[in-house]
Amino acid sequence: VISRRSFLAASALPLAATPPRLDAARLRNRIEDLSVFGRPRGGTFADGVSRIGYSDTDITARRFVMNLMREAGAAPRIDAAGNIFCRRDGAENSLPAVLFGSHIDSVPDGGNFDGDLGSLASVEILRLMQEHGLRTRRPLEAVVWACEEATFRGNSLNGSRAAAGRLRPGEIEEVWAGLRKADAIRRIGGDPERIAEARISPGRYHTYVELHIEQGGTLARDGVPIGVVDGIVSIDRHDVVIRGMANHAGTTPMADRQDALIAASRLTLAVREVVTAEPGSQVGTVGHLAVTPNAANVIPGLVNLTIELRDLSSDKLDRIAARIRARAEAIAGETRTSIQMTAGLRNPSALADAGVQKVIESAAHSLGLRARRLPSGAGHDAQMMATVAPMGMIFVPSVAGISHSPKEFTAWEDCAHGADVLFQTVVALAA
Ligand SMILES: [Zn+2]
Repeated sequence: VISRRSFLAASALPLAATPPRLDAARLRNRIEDLSVFGRPRGGTFADGVSRIGYSDTDITARRFVMNLMREAGAAPRIDAAGNIFCRRDGAENSLPAVLFGSHIDSVPDGGNFDGDLGSLASVEILRLMQEHGLRTRRPLEAVVWACEEATFRGNSLNGSRAAAGRLRPGEIEEVWAGLRKADAIRRIGGDPERIAEARISPGRYHTYVELHIEQGGTLARDGVPIGVVDGIVSIDRHDVVIRGMANHAGTTPMADRQDALIAASRLTLAVREVVTAEPGSQVGTVGHLAVTPNAANVIPGLVNLTIELRDLSSDKLDRIAARIRARAEAIAGETRTSIQMTAGLRNPSALADAGVQKVIESAAHSLGLRARRLPSGAGHDAQMMATVAPMGMIFVPSVAGISHSPKEFTAWEDCAHGADVLFQTVVALAA
């Protein structure tokens, strides 16, 4: 529980004898309010949300959240990358602030908790501080990162990557669905010409904390209400181009075929075999496959596919990629195709700070909540922030481990628990 010492009175207001708890009903209302931006026409909360980063829907939702920030007495500020920050002064404003937040964009047909919970809980914390006239020693700053989910050429963590100074050269000139990334950033109030100014230098923030749904099923399965993330896995993408020869499906004998889809099928199975050949929690997926010409009566001449590999250890991922590459060469020879495998985006793994993990754990315990350490198999803005500040993440259970789906759900009680742990954590860090 937050000690009286953690708070300094903002004015002549006395300190609360019992530190406040976040208003669980209001947090739920906020999540329900936000869900209408991007809800399918005629649908309900249970039908999920499509709130693609940089879209009109995203822009109206961002406006809604910025109004909540104003109601919380904190003026929002949009940086050059389109990230929204809002700050509550501390008693000693020359000290680096404690930063906390998440994102509000979604995948197509996504759920109402991924990103939304952490973002709205963060704004609620500022609101609660305002209502109770409470002040910490360090400033507090909430953030809503721009376009966390993949949009441009499959690039994710767009806003936080800019803040970490990790955009690729020329990335803001890339075009997706007819929209230049620079123009997309401008649409949401950013300034692509000054994108470098969005960069956060190490030391600017004291710590970064993110509350998020687990998106896996381990906490829900074991009935543990709070997860303390020890690290976020690296995500490596490889683009594969397989060239065979398109030919008549009726007149070409089986022995004479150079079928790119046969090669792709064998490679897909090889990915599974290589990934499961050594112990550990690494995962590998062929999730995207484009077959050309993709016609019933033509032998596939070309297949583009993606291989995605995830683990906390980059060395292990390099080892696995090399083995897959060797298998690809063999398969190309056997199927008389060519297989070209190119390393794409690597979001490096990020370890949570040991000190921040301890603070989260004691916050949970002081609230009488069980907590367990676990890695995150999903990518998060927090992994970018880990490159500029000590980072910590709080997970709450996802029912049945379902996410990136309208069926994504976290019990309201668990949402409130997570928000309370976030609140206690940032106040302890800012003390
Ligand atoms: Zn998310």
